[in-house]
Amino acid sequence: MLHTEKLYEGKAKILYSTDDPKVLLTCYKDDATAFNAQKRGQIQGKGEINCTVSAALFQWLESLGIPTHYIDCPAPNQMRVKTVEIIPLEVVVRNIAAGSLCRQTGMREGTILPSSLVEYYLKNDELGDPLLTRDRLFLLDIISQAQLAVIEEMAKKINQHLQDFFTSCQITLVDFKLEFGLDNQGQILLADEISPDTCRLWDQTETDPQARVMDKDRFRKDLGQVESAYQEVQARVLGKVKELS
Ligand code: UDP
Repeated sequence: MLHTEKLYEGKAKILYSTDDPKVLLTCYKDDATAFNAQKRGQIQGKGEINCTVSAALFQWLESLGIPTHYIDCPAPNQMRVKTVEIIPLEVVVRNIAAGSLCRQTGMREGTILPSSLVEYYLKNDELGDPLLTRDRLFLLDIISQAQLAVIEEMAKKINQHLQDFFTSCQITLVDFKLEFGLDNQGQILLADEISPDTCRLWDQTETDPQARVMDKDRFRKDLGQVESAYQEVQARVLGKVKELS
């Protein structure tokens, strides 16, 4: 696969065009950022792990009827994806209170939510990715009511599938962020990545609140052993995928 042109470099990935306009190439980086890029570092091997974990989860979700942008991985840190127009929303699904939900509401971390919460944040680093209300979402003309209904239903289905999957890996899916895109037919596809960078994952075999963290919170909160936590997520995910296939 020839890289024809670098289209965009984000915090964790670089996007290239390819010789086929319907296909883009994503290269996952080891660079890590947190707190809207105020904290920067590197997590050795993260690019390959996040690409591999995302690829496994995208393929598994596809097999369950969720349309995704995934095509294949020409190298361990490279993913070929269908060209989509990314909808500028970060769709966060929460099962357990953590992170900004606790900071903004005072809820205690670890509180099990009575039902999953789907939230929409504006994907805009300059504005600090603000939480949107439904009315603001339509005010900004980001998507139609019908598209929002599709995204909400997809997000809930994905949550159900991912919760089942991670539970079978002895991992609790606390919360995660999704992005969606529109293909040239106007179909909504799951895009971006699903990885320890974008999910909160707690090890069910650990009871200690710090030891159980298997995701980017280890980097955000300087908990150490970031690489080994990411490796453990990859090992469990790939082990489960192998078992299911
Ligand atoms: N998240 C993400 N990218 C973002 C913001 C959040 O992947 O730009 C993920 C984050 O890893 C967590 C979930 O979305 O799994 C909810 O994040 P939260 O709103 O609690 O914000 P945070 O505490 O990470 O600032």
